[in-house]
Amino acid sequence: MKHVTHPAIRQRQGRLSSEAVAALNADLAARFGNRFTASEAIRAAHGHTLTWLKNEPPDAVVFAESRDDVVDLVKLCAKHDAPLVPFGVGSSLEGHVNAPHGGVSLDLTRMNAVLAVHADDLDCVIEPGVTRKQLNEHLRDSGLFFPIDPGADASLGGMAATRASGTNAVRYGTMKDLVLSLGVVVADGSFLRTGTRAKKSSAGYDLTHLFIGSEGTLGVIVEIALRLSGIPEAIAAGTCSFPSVRAACEATIETIQSGLPIARCELVDALSVRAFNTYSHLSLPEQPMLLVEFHGTEQSVAEQASRFGEIAASRGGGPFASATRPEERTKLWQARHDTYWSQMTLRPGARPFATDACVPISRLADCVEETLDDIARSGLVAPIVGHVGDGNFHVTPLIDLANKAEIDAADAFAARLAHRAIAMGGTCTGEHGVGQKKREYMEEEHGPIAIDLMRRVKASFDPMNLFNPGKVFFA
Ligand SMILES: Cc1cc2nc3c(=O)[nH]c(=O)nc-3n(C[C@H](O)[C@H](O)[C@H](O)COP(=O)(O)OP(=O)(O)OC[C@H]3O[C@@H](n4cnc5c(N)ncnc54)[C@H](O)[C@@H]3O)c2cc1C
Repeated sequence: MKHVTHPAIRQRQGRLSSEAVAALNADLAARFGNRFTASEAIRAAHGHTLTWLKNEPPDAVVFAESRDDVVDLVKLCAKHDAPLVPFGVGSSLEGHVNAPHGGVSLDLTRMNAVLAVHADDLDCVIEPGVTRKQLNEHLRDSGLFFPIDPGADASLGGMAATRASGTNAVRYGTMKDLVLSLGVVVADGSFLRTGTRAKKSSAGYDLTHLFIGSEGTLGVIVEIALRLSGIPEAIAAGTCSFPSVRAACEATIETIQSGLPIARCELVDALSVRAFNTYSHLSLPEQPMLLVEFHGTEQSVAEQASRFGEIAASRGGGPFASATRPEERTKLWQARHDTYWSQMTLRPGARPFATDACVPISRLADCVEETLDDIARSGLVAPIVGHVGDGNFHVTPLIDLANKAEIDAADAFAARLAHRAIAMGGTCTGEHGVGQKKREYMEEEHGPIAIDLMRRVKASFDPMNLFNPGKVFFA
């Protein structure tokens, strides 16, 4: 194949003119009534709000309640040549929902129906605004659960669009493993289904996985078929302290390499343990720690916990402190899910500069250790937690946004981390996605030919560059 360098995605310059916005908004008001708003506060809340990245609000927000609403909005955006940015709950961390070229934020939170639960097939079909907690609440009496649990109560549409994962991914997989098929509205307003509810298929190109992780740049997901799992008969969770982060990582590597079917394996560094203690009223030893969980029968979880305890002890860790009562377990995992907020107590007034990286499991200890050295050299306050069973970890420098030198230092640190992970055969983002901020590492990670192909895919799915322009690629 002839290699063409960076085929054109249609470029957009600046934002829509005020005349264009007025014409667009008149049509939106006529079609959507009070489900359309141009309120400044609501527009700002639909741009990126969570980290140090600049808020770039859309010109309007539309709250969709049905697939027809989405189809009509896509057609109106095409008519007015206005960008359309799908919006789940806005918990993405890399500027994904910003609207640098203006246009419409499509808020999908009201499309939150669980359409069907097929308990016999262990699957369900939902609308994209269903959140992970809402789904598990719905499933509670069925004996089934959906395991992917990002720290935020994200929408399943947003989670599919970012290829999200969470603490259970080491055992149950990420969104790439648990989405069976998607219903998508594409750029000409057509609706398509990317697959069936069959557990596997060899029928043609895998469009499901093309849309998973596409960050709203290829179409709007309006329906999702998901795999579910049976609630395990027995669960054992607990904490295990280690003399160093390296020792905790080495215990993780051995646990995974030995084939122990651990369900959750989270690294919490000493700084983050301090934050947990303060924010979640715990009294954990302020040392690097693994927070782990085992699923199975009573006998198998006891065996797994015992084997894990042996591995931890061989690295100087332990003892394994088991949280046997469900409320103790819930408290520990709630503390883990509240990490983003608790870490802010480490430097009051500072903002988190969240970044994530993922490496093959054998390189985990090296990558985390080099990163710790880098943090020490750069003088940043930068706690580390991670889904280390997957080789994935998060570093969150806490930054004084009034101090440009600090922002630059954190930016340079995040770049070094991305380069380090890629050089070790890993990725610049294990789960948060590319958004605006990680576009700069895409070519290094994938190479120019793969990027050219991706850009051609984008251009052929979305020739006008309506869907979430300025994300994933510089375009
Ligand atoms: C405290 C905290 C902890 C977090 N922990 C994790 C974690 O453990 N694991 C993890 O993976 N992430 C984590 N995240 C990041 C975030 O929760 C995930 O990226 C999540 O998947 C985003 O879902 P959302 O509903 O907020 O999507 P949004 O932020 O609203 O959107 C994210 C992207 O998806 C697109 N999108 C949204 N809905 C649709 C749709 N229906 N169709 C097409 N495109 C769509 C948007 O355009 C955007 O590009 C965390 C975030 C926070 C704040």
